[in-house]
Parts: sequence; C-alpha cells; structure tokens
Amino acid sequence: MIVPAAGNVKTIAILISGSGLHKAILGKSLIHMHFIIQQLPCHANTYSALRFSILALSYKITVKAMTALFEEFEDALGIPPRRGVLLSEHSSFRIGGPADFFFTAETLEELTVAVRLAVRSGVRHFVMGGGTNILFDDAGFRGLVIKNAASGLFPSAAGSGVEAVSGTRLADLVEFSVSRGLRGLEHLAGIPGTVGGAVFGNAGAFGRSIGEKLESAALIDRRGRERLASRDEMGFAYRKSALRADRSVLLKAAFILNPDEEDKIREDISCLLEQRSARHPDWSVACAGCYFKNPVREDGTRLAAGKLLEEIGAGSLSRGGAAVSGTHCNFIVNRGGATASDVRGLAEELKRRVRERFGLNLEEEVIVLPADG
Ligand SMILES: Cc1cc2nc3c(=O)[nH]c(=O)nc-3n(C[C@H](O)[C@H](O)[C@H](O)COP(=O)(O)OP(=O)(O)OC[C@H]3O[C@@H](n4cnc5c(N)ncnc54)[C@H](O)[C@@H]3O)c2cc1C
Repeated sequence: MIVPAAGNVKTIAILISGSGLHKAILGKSLIHMHFIIQQLPCHANTYSALRFSILALSYKITVKAMTALFEEFEDALGIPPRRGVLLSEHSSFRIGGPADFFFTAETLEELTVAVRLAVRSGVRHFVMGGGTNILFDDAGFRGLVIKNAASGLFPSAAGSGVEAVSGTRLADLVEFSVSRGLRGLEHLAGIPGTVGGAVFGNAGAFGRSIGEKLESAALIDRRGRERLASRDEMGFAYRKSALRADRSVLLKAAFILNPDEEDKIREDISCLLEQRSARHPDWSVACAGCYFKNPVREDGTRLAAGKLLEEIGAGSLSRGGAAVSGTHCNFIVNRGGATASDVRGLAEELKRRVRERFGLNLEEEVIVLPADG
C-alpha cells in the first residue's frame, strides 16, 4: 500500500518499487518533479493526488525502459546485464558502490550492440575500459555500466601500422607493435588500461601521447551511428580528445608507426620503464594514476602538478583512507578503506592550497563519475 503523504518523495519511490534499482533511478527524477509540483498553486489534496499520479507515471515509464532493456540484451546478445555489481571491483582505486546494471562486452559486436541498446532505451549509461582512471562514487552508478573487454590486434594493410580493438590492453598494443619492429608507442609502456581509455584521455608520458600516432578511429556516436574519424577530427590535446565532448565510444583505432630494429625499441622501453618506476608508486598501490592535470601558467608554460603539490607539503596530507603518495605528490592513493568522499575531500584540500599559494587552479585528470547524472 502506497501512502502519498507529505514527506520525502524518495521514500515513496522506495515503497512503490520495492527494488534498489528502481529506487535509485527514480530518486532524482522524483525530486525534480516534486520541485515542479511544489511550484503549482493548487490545493493540498489536489497537490497530493497530482503528485501521486506523476510518481506512478514516472515509475511506469522507468520500469518499462528497464524491462525493455533487459529483454533486448537477452534477445540480441543472449546475456542480460548483471545487477548490483560493485564498481570497486572494477577500479584500480578499489573504490565504488554498486552499479544498477553492469555488462561486460567481450567482443566488438557485443560492445556495439550494447551501446546501441543503451542509447535506444534512454537509460543512463557509461562505457569504461580498465577502470584505471576513474573515481567511482560511493553510491555506485544509477544506470548501466558497459565494461569494454573486447580485444584484438591486427597488422594494418599498409604494413607499417597496427589496428587495435578498443578494449585491448595498452600493454598488449605496445608489445604487438614492438614485436613487429614498429616504433612510436614506446612511451605508453607501463601505462595500465585499455586502448579506448587511452584514446579518450590522450594518455601518454615523457611529453608524448597516444594521439600523435593515431591514424583513424572507428566510433559509435551518441545516437548509435558508426563512423570513421581521422586524427584531425579527434581533437587531441593535452590529456584530452573529442570523445569527451561528443560522447562517442571508440570501437577500433589504427596507428601509423615507423619501422625500426626490435632490440633498439626494447632498449628504449626498458630505459623509460626504469624512469617510471623511480618516479611512480609501486604497481600494487590502489590509485588511478596522476590525480590532476599539469596546469598552464598565463604565459602558456605547463607546470608539473606534482612539483606544486610537493611545495605545499601535500606529501603529509590524508583524509580517511585516502592519502597523498609519498613517492609522487600527484598520486592520491587508497591506503585501505578509502571512500570516494575521502578522495574528493582530499583533492579539494589540495586544490585550495595550490590556489592560495600559486593562484593556479588544478583540474582533475581522473574521471570523477557521479552516481546520478
Ligand atoms: C599506476 C597508474 C599509472 C598511470 N600512469 C599514467 C601515465 O603515465 N599516463 C597517462 O596518461 N595515464 C596514466 N594512468 C591513467 C590511466 O591508466 C590511463 O588514463 C588509461 O589510458 C585509462 O584507460 P582505461 O581503459 O583504464 O580507462 P577507464 O579508466 O576505464 O576510463 C577512463 C575514461 O575513458 C573513457 N573510455 C574508456 N573506454 C572508452 C571507449 N572505448 N570509448 C570512449 N571512451 C572510453 C571512460 O568513459 C572514462 O571516461 C595511470 C594509472 C595508473 C593506475
């Protein structure tokens, strides 16, 4: 029995649905509707009745979309998304509550179909790769998370290039290229995650980034249409690509590389890896890489965020289970039991101190994903 009494609309949503998923997805829209209805000049009883009708309608629409999505996944792929998967298990930070729906795409076809179905259903969705650059929310994710585990590597027709399916591990792409005597991706050695995540954030190190060697990208856009984008259309800049703004998903990427002797390339890679291990925290540490982008000064020069943070004494700062790494001040690490709120709180403190001392605004490199969008 549902009682549309005055009070918290979220509670009503819980009563109506009796399921965590429905409660979560409904919560936000109900609050929004509650606000709109409160603006209407009508009698209390009319208000309650109207509110109840809209709640019921909204519930019906949401359940319909979710049920349809479930059935469509089963029909098209033979596997429905899983419910309530803990995102902490899919994050290098080891932080994050449950996702309402979670689907792992093992092939390019599954990825394409999953994205299309999500787009068509209107259910909020998010495509992740290795989860090495994301801070998930303590409350998880309201909607569908699609984990891209679709991998594959091929030599390109022209001979001096490679093509990678977007869920391929970056490490595998580097190894595949080197073993064919192809140079150009060495600086990516040691960076965890997938090709999709790397292209999204134009990942790189030692002043170089993945976008420099990308020739073309096969994408699926936010309307579910596939298209091929050239390097120029990808809008690469420092830790940035056009994928962030246009919300397209990378399906495949082709890289153009330069022939060289395999041994020479391997030597360079060991040298770069040595430098990385001297600067970065140990691989076993739970983190998401550099937390902040390197800021730009008014004269256009880029400063190392890690150095600025070192100068404000960030190395000794912590909040709850989150702490600044003693090895590299631009790494926030989960030293055990950290929550997203601990990390965000610590990051705000770091930003405040850098702003006060240097007049510079640090911007997150890590993707901070809210539970509700
Ligand atoms: C120990 C450590 C060291 C690191 N060192 C570096 C470094 O030196 N340089 C560097 O640049 N980064 C570094 N990182 C950060 C991270 O590894 C990279 O950014 C990596 O490229 C992210 O890939 P991912 O697959 O894990 O992406 P995820 O973390 O899963 O996702 C990151 C973003 O990419 C988007 N995304 C993922 N796949 C796709 C796709 N197919 N299409 C569209 N969007 C997609 C997601 O929606 C999300 O917004 C480091 C991280 C760790 C933990």
